[in-house]
Amino acid sequence: MRSFSYARAQDAPDAVARFRPGTAYLGGGTNLVDLMRLGVATPDHLVDVSRMPYDRVEPTSGGGLRIGAAARNADVAAHPLVREHYPMLARALLSGASGQIRNMATIGGNLLQRTRCAYFQDTSMPCNKRAPGSGCPAVDGDHENLAILGHSAGRELACVATHPSDMAVALTALDAQVHVTGSQASRVIPMPGLHRLPGSEPYRDTVLEPGELITAVELPPPPPGRSAYRKVRERASFAFALVSVAALIDIGDDGITRTCRVALGGVAHAPWRAFFTERAVAGAAATAETFARAADAELARAVPLARNGYKVTLARNLIAATLEELASLFSPPGEER
Ligand SMILES: Cc1cc2nc3c(=O)[nH]c(=O)nc-3n(C[C@H](O)[C@H](O)[C@H](O)COP(=O)(O)OP(=O)(O)OC[C@H]3O[C@@H](n4cnc5c(N)ncnc54)[C@H](O)[C@@H]3O)c2cc1C
Ligand code: SF4
Repeated sequence: MRSFSYARAQDAPDAVARFRPGTAYLGGGTNLVDLMRLGVATPDHLVDVSRMPYDRVEPTSGGGLRIGAAARNADVAAHPLVREHYPMLARALLSGASGQIRNMATIGGNLLQRTRCAYFQDTSMPCNKRAPGSGCPAVDGDHENLAILGHSAGRELACVATHPSDMAVALTALDAQVHVTGSQASRVIPMPGLHRLPGSEPYRDTVLEPGELITAVELPPPPPGRSAYRKVRERASFAFALVSVAALIDIGDDGITRTCRVALGGVAHAPWRAFFTERAVAGAAATAETFARAADAELARAVPLARNGYKVTLARNLIAATLEELASLFSPPGEER
């Protein structure tokens, strides 16, 4: 490993003031340190932001929740307010990594973890994300677990990577807002909106500018309805999603859907909000046929690669089955709820 300097930031202004070219912020280190060992990340300076006083989970005056960026994944998943009002978020967090990693991993670091594309993690291979212009071996190579939506296969700087965070999928469905501080100003970035599709700049995972620090994630008041996080993976634990879905639905006494939110993981360079599904479900009868049609409406946009077409079927069935399962928790039309 190359040598680097280490400093511990006291708070956000201190962290931002310490940032200079070659700096990386350090959260729990469960992703960054692995990438440093592999030679994929080569920072000259580490600014540790995991001990800043931003580890609280607090109700907001507007009825939502503010989660500090330094809060540990395990603590957030176990927090009573998260479990009671945002169970989808607790489930998403608990489905990720292992207990030990969740004890270390922070909310800010989880959002900014890098792709698990095998070529990105192997410095002996070309990769447009790691070395722009070197090529993307995944397009014709090992891409079984890579993107089916919003990728840039065929473009000059192709990238078909997926974003690995489970938590980010739930935050995307919940309309979370990410609070960020930079050297010039602070700003709030809505989700979806923090993570980018690769476009012609696959080396940029997010819309953050160099030196911008995530300080908190804010959730609006919990939407009414029933919600779930479902993750399909190759084994029951310690595995990233092949496809995941965060879904919420609220159905009236007349059997008509009032609200529907759906976000997908494992299918794109960013957590994917399924707006076409949502539009097809909201205002329609909450039936299996509606859910199947609505899932088709989203997946019609998919452009699978040679060996990941299975994900189109998987995502489609996962959306439809999760909405159906949630709808079954409501009383049939005409009955008291
Ligand atoms: C074996 C294994 C299995 C895993 N399985 C899953 C899984 O199934 N699902 C899942 O979602 N995740 C999984 N993970 C990933 C894990 O969730 C992440 O490694 C973790 O969330 C990263 O958080 P961290 O605080 O350790 O981040 P770090 O490793 O410290 O940082 C990650 C990135 O975020 C940046 N950063 C950190 N904090 C901030 C901040 N406040 N502002 C700006 N930038 C910041 C760092 O510079 C770095 O680029 C797994 C990891 C391992 C090792
Ligand atoms: S998919 Fe993206 S991360 Fe993977 S090799 Fe291609 S450019 Fe690199």
